[in-house]
Amino acid sequence: MTLNKSIYNLALLCFVFFSTTVMAGASSIRVVTSFSILEDLVNELGGEYVNVLNLVGRNSDAHIYQPKPSDAVAIANAELVVFNGLEFEGWISRLIENADYKNKQLVASVGVDAITFGEEVDPHAWQSFHNIRIYIENITQSLILLRPERAHSFIQNKQRYMNSLTFLESQLLEQIEKTPQDNRIVVTSHDAFGYLGREFNIRFLSPVGLNIEIEASAEDVAAVIDKIRAQQVGAIFMENISNPRLLQRIADETDIAIGGSLYSDALSEENGPASTYLNMMRHNIESLINAFESI
Ligand SMILES: [Zn+2]
Repeated sequence: MTLNKSIYNLALLCFVFFSTTVMAGASSIRVVTSFSILEDLVNELGGEYVNVLNLVGRNSDAHIYQPKPSDAVAIANAELVVFNGLEFEGWISRLIENADYKNKQLVASVGVDAITFGEEVDPHAWQSFHNIRIYIENITQSLILLRPERAHSFIQNKQRYMNSLTFLESQLLEQIEKTPQDNRIVVTSHDAFGYLGREFNIRFLSPVGLNIEIEASAEDVAAVIDKIRAQQVGAIFMENISNPRLLQRIADETDIAIGGSLYSDALSEENGPASTYLNMMRHNIESLINAFESI
């Protein structure tokens, strides 16, 4: 009898605890994001009113991600799924379909000024101060649609974030203007920085194309080495999401030192130099400027 009673009390306690937890979280929007940069933006804009579950983690490559069964469960329980689009996450449509997800989907890049090469589109649109403002507007609009009563907070968060973005952008543009234009040629693992190059007048070369999934052929590598020798290449940079071996080989053959790591398709760990989107932009551009200045 006593045992039964304590089990009953325990069950009651669990029920009360669970209901309070659920009630406390009732007003948070359950969001699933496809990769770490979107996770950061949604958290910045949604603040305490979002509960974000992210699929492709920090320092991981979304181009070649293999979804897990738990991802479908996360999506099935979401109110909003945010992904980049521009064919970056080739795996996401099937995942959304498998989860039988019927709630809101947001393609964060809708409306950006995309770079295209014939049929191919460069998905790395977040590597641009101009474009990221469009992502921010899109995310804010979706949050407001889902919780109109929180609109005031979302708009305040957006304005604060936009101010930090504009401050950082003007600081970095001012710094890069002091480096000679001819020095601004960089080799990276894959073509992830076309948008950054367009805004900061930097030329990026890479042994593979837009998609890291494709392995560079001997001809691709030889062609990059020829280009490096023919031009004033300022620096070679690793990327956080890719294998450094190929770039090390190119650096050895061309006698150009590796300038460090750039964060292209994922943030660093939280204690790393690219812990947030703003820190990533600062780290990448300042590292490039340092390399150009030391030529
Ligand atoms: Zn990429």
